[in-house]
Amino acid sequence: MQKTFQVGAKTFVLDQDKAEAAFAAKKVINGRETMTFNLLPLKYQWAYDLYRTMKANHWEPEDIPMGKDIEQWRDEKAVSDIERWIIRMGIGYFSAAEGIVGDNIQHVVRELVTAPELKLVLGRHAHEENIHADSLLYMIASLGINPHECEAMFEDVPTIVRKNEFVTNVSRSLRRDLDLTLPENKRLLAKNIFVFGQCMEGTQFYGLFGMILSLYRQNKFPGIGQMFRYTLRDESNHIEVFRNLFMDLIEENREIWTTEFKEELRALMSEAITLEKEFIRDCLPVNAVGLAIEEFITYIDYIADRRLEGCGLAPLAAGVKNPLPWLAEMMDIKKEQNFFEGRVTEYQKASSLNVASDDEL
Ligand code: FE
Ligand code: MN
Repeated sequence: MQKTFQVGAKTFVLDQDKAEAAFAAKKVINGRETMTFNLLPLKYQWAYDLYRTMKANHWEPEDIPMGKDIEQWRDEKAVSDIERWIIRMGIGYFSAAEGIVGDNIQHVVRELVTAPELKLVLGRHAHEENIHADSLLYMIASLGINPHECEAMFEDVPTIVRKNEFVTNVSRSLRRDLDLTLPENKRLLAKNIFVFGQCMEGTQFYGLFGMILSLYRQNKFPGIGQMFRYTLRDESNHIEVFRNLFMDLIEENREIWTTEFKEELRALMSEAITLEKEFIRDCLPVNAVGLAIEEFITYIDYIADRRLEGCGLAPLAAGVKNPLPWLAEMMDIKKEQNFFEGRVTEYQKASSLNVASDDEL
């Protein structure tokens, strides 16, 4: 018997029995291993939808003019040394952090999941980390910053080293043939997905994002600010990819979702918050961009609780209010569609052409 499947504007006719068998064999982990990348029938619709959204958001660093940034960087009076320090810090931290995230996707998560549509969206996720890494190179080259200075920052600043170790610890242990039928190994993977998506990309990126967007708000380094806004828009999709992946992994492996495990995850988030606050107090001149340190730090608590709730976990600082609504507005790009409406890139035009030709099929 034949059955019709609809994916976006495309229609596919599949043999029903084969399609049902393929569908049933699809799992986040321990599903059918296949080299043929059988996306159809789609089981994880969210993965395909997010893949399409991410593709429509495509950007390239060179599209963003850096003239004003270069001018300000060289002008003693236009920006202060503290403001230059924030930019160096942002470039230094993210240069390494984007690499760590991309590496974990390619060598751990994408390797261990089995459903092709999950591998599809993870491939795009990894590629976006490459774009982010490339955008940082573009900033380094435009401003004439010594790249070794940025690297040194990552290796020598203890509060950054600790943030780094926190995430690489949950990645290293998974780089071997892992028997994912064992509950303890399933938990290792769930922990990895939680830490990378919710603690690192979802929380620990936000201290520096906040600093750079504060400068952007004061018309300082507009090109860099723009790139960070695009990066942030991408990150919000990455957090969603990992959140969905986490939820489906739990859903399909209920035996790991114990009270003890939930508390372990909350404790990991608590550690991530502590590390981020130490980093902020140690490295980020919050007052210099016109913000109050306590508010800025409360903002981290606020975001962390949103991440926990998104994963069905109890908040740590229940009831804390968002102290910096303007920052949330600037960061929550989903709610602020207008900002991007003005910018229809060649890629977006190209992808809408693709949609048009899909319709004709
Ligand atoms: Fe990134
Ligand atoms: Mn990311």
